[in-house]
Amino acid sequence: MSATQLQARAAAEPPRPDEPVRLLYIGGLGRSGSTLLDRMLSRVDGICSVGELVHLWERGLVLNNRCGCGQRFRECPFWHRVGEEAFGGWDALDGREVLALKRSVDRNRFVHRMLLPALWPGYRARLDRYLELLGRVYEAIRRVSGGPLVVDASKHASHGFLVRRLGGVELRLLHLVRDSRGVAFSWTKPLRRTEVADRDITMKTYNPLRMSARYLSQNLLLHLLRRLGAPTVRVRYESLARDPAPELTRVLDHAGRPPAAGELGFVGDGWVELGPSHALAGNPMRFQSGRVPLRVDEAWRERLRRRHRLVTSAATWPLLLAYGYLRGGGRGR
Ligand SMILES: [Zn+2]
Repeated sequence: MSATQLQARAAAEPPRPDEPVRLLYIGGLGRSGSTLLDRMLSRVDGICSVGELVHLWERGLVLNNRCGCGQRFRECPFWHRVGEEAFGGWDALDGREVLALKRSVDRNRFVHRMLLPALWPGYRARLDRYLELLGRVYEAIRRVSGGPLVVDASKHASHGFLVRRLGGVELRLLHLVRDSRGVAFSWTKPLRRTEVADRDITMKTYNPLRMSARYLSQNLLLHLLRRLGAPTVRVRYESLARDPAPELTRVLDHAGRPPAAGELGFVGDGWVELGPSHALAGNPMRFQSGRVPLRVDEAWRERLRRRHRLVTSAATWPLLLAYGYLRGGGRGR
């Protein structure tokens, strides 16, 4: 057995109960490939990816939407066990009350309060209560999955700042970026929310100017999280979709779980083999399995209106430059 395999095996050993939960947190904007990345990572032994945990209370507990396994949240055996471990069952919680608590704590505009909660005693009390619930959920996920590494694809910067405050969680940030013009174009198109089992609902759309503002605020907050000491790796959606193996290797090295030789055999040239999942929320790819084609979606290059392209480029150029999208048309690595 090679040194890498030994290292991978050691990294896949079940964690001791007193060890912190090691959490790889995917931060970024929607429509940047986070579901794809999450589903790829879930193929690796010892990794439990839970999709977008930030939506647990609303889409899971309150609305009982469908899990990635196809079952409704409350019927899914994985989430049932997590609820049992964390709270003695989900019925111990009032979903709407927890959701209201979350909304009063977890917003990008409250990040300054998360950093200095002592200045806002009312906020601090709600924050402590919410962190206690979140901490129990992550710990329960670790216990139920038995794996040493949990992946959370929530993406929201504010949720990352909350996780940073959890004593029992060792945070590793994965900052996922995509060309802002691709993000803007994608958000002009409605996409069906397939997890809603009993109705036809499409995701919200945003105009390119509004999306550019979100692109700036979300990414700058993730830069701040890194400056505050969260170990961070940055991945470009385009590089991941074009040639996934090297990007996955970088991510897994960063998460302290380097892949063994041949372990990334589920990705190939232009395809990825997806396995079962209990991912909460995320795009419709959550429900696909088996071999699916993999290609970089750059439809914006032909289809994004000139006016929208100019607005987006002008508003987000410092980040486009920082992420390497203004060199050689951004088609490089
Ligand atoms: Zn499930």
